Amino acid sequence: MINILDFDLAALKNWMKENGEKEFRAKQVFNWIYNEVWDFYNMNNIPKSTKDKLNSFFYIGIPELLEVYDSEDNNTKKFLYRYKDGSIIECVAMEYTYGNSICVSTQVGCKMGCKFCASTIGGIIRNLTAGEITAQILKTQSIIHKRISNVVLMGSGEPLDNYENVIAFINDINNDYSLNIGQRHITLSTCGIVPKIYDLADLKLQITLAISLHASSDEERKKIMPIANKYNIQELIKACTYYISKTNRRITFEYALVKGINDNEDSARKLGELLKNILCHVNLIPVNTVTENNFKKPSKENIKIFSNILNDFGINNTIRREMGSDINAACGQLRRSYAKSIEKRC
Ligand code: SAH
Repeated sequence: MINILDFDLAALKNWMKENGEKEFRAKQVFNWIYNEVWDFYNMNNIPKSTKDKLNSFFYIGIPELLEVYDSEDNNTKKFLYRYKDGSIIECVAMEYTYGNSICVSTQVGCKMGCKFCASTIGGIIRNLTAGEITAQILKTQSIIHKRISNVVLMGSGEPLDNYENVIAFINDINNDYSLNIGQRHITLSTCGIVPKIYDLADLKLQITLAISLHASSDEERKKIMPIANKYNIQELIKACTYYISKTNRRITFEYALVKGINDNEDSARKLGELLKNILCHVNLIPVNTVTENNFKKPSKENIKIFSNILNDFGINNTIRREMGSDINAACGQLRRSYAKSIEKRC
């Protein structure tokens, strides 16, 4: 059985033709699916014989909701979803005044091994397909009863380690027959797989690229991110500069501040030197403590000092509001705590 969400309109039209059906049925079927009708037999304008064919060839791969958590401020909701094969992922919906955002997962687990991140603790199980990523948005919209207008690829997984599927996903949700989410409303976050940044740049998409930098020297970065052993910061920054030259897009650098590791004034100055000539924005994120590690966030004063040093270098920066930290909204924490609670129950 094939997940129909892994087909785009052209592929489904083709399927219709090959199966003796009218091509326009493809658009009708997608119309139903994107309007939350997830059973072929409830698609009223489709003939019974076509429904039978569809049903014997495809399934509509919407994940099942396992749990939902509301943050105290009510603006953030976290969902735990289970796909047909039992894989569990999480995704987060955030309500802002300008619209609703979703943070989607791109892999079940992750193999990048960042020391502060819960997603990677159990390693990787598998990649998600384009349709499975899209389905996170469809399912979430159906629960919150609101249109999602912004997508960040910052849930579990490394998007550039699942390159083909992620690009197909970005193209899919862009279509007007599907979710109509423009590239400028999509942010892709990567720990910095350098060759893939070049590939992405050559596509000249208008998405926002976010780089999980988290350190200003290789020595510091290697302590928390194994990917730093493969690509050094100079190579990474060179790839970013190439990305900017191809797309004209400003890059976001994410910097999770960890007390005693990367939060000192010297690190801030090095970061300033590194980024001062680059079209960028820095997101300072007080690290979320994960039960399995002992990383702590710096004090508010130290975060402010760090931010002010970047200001002195003329670098645009913001300290990220910690939305949903009361519901384990940091990457991978929910899936992890769910797995642990199941272990306890067994
Ligand atoms: N693999 C991609 C996207 C997923 S992680 C990447 O590395 O960018 C999304 C962001 O959350 C990354 O910047 C990641 O470094 C950060 N992150 C993960 N765990 C965190 C934690 N405990 N506290 C703060 N940020 C965290």
